[in-house]
Amino acid sequence: MGDLASPLDIRAHHLLCILGFRGLGYSQEFVAKMGKVVEELTSNSTFPITIIAGCDAICRSCPHNKNDRCRKKADSEERVRAKDLAVLERLGLEAGTQITPAEVWGRVKESFSANEIRKICRKCQWLELGYCVEGLEKLQAG
Ligand code: SF4
Ligand code: SF4
Repeated sequence: MGDLASPLDIRAHHLLCILGFRGLGYSQEFVAKMGKVVEELTSNSTFPITIIAGCDAICRSCPHNKNDRCRKKADSEERVRAKDLAVLERLGLEAGTQITPAEVWGRVKESFSANEIRKICRKCQWLELGYCVEGLEKLQAG
């Protein structure tokens, strides 16, 4: 479990980012935290997580987080929350739901397509690398 809170807050769209994580990110601290979260949520099927639509454990290690709001760009907070809500709707979950990785990955596997990620994430700087779509495809192939 390391130093991660339990249950761990995860904002909904970060589930997709976790699938695509390959060691890149906004700072060393961010990458280190993301790496720990990815390791836990992909290796421990029962680790308790709470799916939210707001600042989470990952954002708190991000240099773009200011007072628990995303300030990457002027409208980022609104945009990332809209992305979270789109993911929650797709998964059939409400913000605040506590769930396990096993269940949430099962829902992601059933609910998302590559095109859906391209639509929800169309403005993200990381999309064109293709890692997130490949991460989904790997989950769905497993
Ligand atoms: S494209 Fe961006 S927001 Fe979308 S899953 Fe990947 S890193 Fe996350
Ligand atoms: S603060 Fe913004 S850019 Fe940083 S992890 Fe959170 S949503 Fe992403």
